[in-house]
Amino acid sequence: MKKHNFNAGPCVLPRPAVESAIEAIRDFDGTGVGILEISHRTPGWDRIMQETEQLWRELLNIPDDYAVLFLGGGASTEFYFVPANLMVKKAAYLQTGSWAKKAIKEAKLFGEVEVVASSEDKNYTYIPKNYTIPTDADYFHITTNNTIYGTEIKTDIDSPIPLVADMSSDILSRPIDISKYGLIYGGAQKNVGPAGVAFVIVRKDILGKVERSLPTMMDYRTHIGKGSMFNTPPVFPIFVMHETLKWLKKLGGVEAIQKINKHKAELLYNEIDRNKLFVGTAAKEDRSLMNVCFVMADEYKDKEAEFLKFADEKGMVGIKGHRSVGGFRASIYNACPTESVEALVACMQEFEKEF
Ligand SMILES: *Cc1c(COP(=O)(O)O)cnc(C)c1O
Repeated sequence: MKKHNFNAGPCVLPRPAVESAIEAIRDFDGTGVGILEISHRTPGWDRIMQETEQLWRELLNIPDDYAVLFLGGGASTEFYFVPANLMVKKAAYLQTGSWAKKAIKEAKLFGEVEVVASSEDKNYTYIPKNYTIPTDADYFHITTNNTIYGTEIKTDIDSPIPLVADMSSDILSRPIDISKYGLIYGGAQKNVGPAGVAFVIVRKDILGKVERSLPTMMDYRTHIGKGSMFNTPPVFPIFVMHETLKWLKKLGGVEAIQKINKHKAELLYNEIDRNKLFVGTAAKEDRSLMNVCFVMADEYKDKEAEFLKFADEKGMVGIKGHRSVGGFRASIYNACPTESVEALVACMQEFEKEF
């Protein structure tokens, strides 16, 4: 049976990227040696690194004064890299979920943290709106898409101080104005590849202001100086990222994927709003286009396990909600085909008929 993969991350990848990854394991670039077995100092690999960076620059229109880095350790490592490299005395954070909270915890190791607003009072089901960004902080940190709660900051906000964004789960899902950000980071395993590599896009002039001495590997300037090859980079995840970006470019880039993403999200939210069995959990204006969270309506609360089983039998994978929210979450990232969303909608309609 065909499976429809709604996993929150790692998650579905574009089929062509998976196919070329399989081929590259057998034989990388016609060298007769597999990608897992090559040296990262071979010319063929150099080309992949350069092309990957170039694809990022093209897809997001990244200006020359920004560096693009590919680092190990995932987004959680950036939670402490960011304050280590940017916080002189104080940083401001918007607390929109548990990833933001984890980032705040790490930042506190390096100085003072001002939480400018939080939506914890309503279990992070909305994005706080009326807050003031303090001008005496070194940067303002936001999480653009809250993977667990299904809320999203869908526009580029204006910040009087360098804006730092964890875009792990919505990067490349829409056009963004890079010049509004000082630094953007995220783990690859939601929209841009498999687990094992993080991306960092940083305006170079915001670095080098802190006095603390940084371990070599923790200093962004080390990686900028060496083109993300100071040490062995995560070769295979970067290769799959390269293939994923190629797929996105061929499809028409971020403008094209944004249209598709809007359409997919609309299909699913419309069904949630229409179907008597389900209710969405996120505030409507803040609904994420990437992670769609919903629960059973009160009168049908006892049907949750039944729906999960029903959906499982229809080939739906990964729709159980995060343990801190419960209910269901369908992650419909870039690579999730419209056909899968249509299948889930049909499954919800069919289940409704039983009541
Ligand atoms: C998944 C996720 C993370 C954690 O990423 P890791 O690479 O596992 O450290 C951080 N922030 C957001 C918004 C995420 O979705």
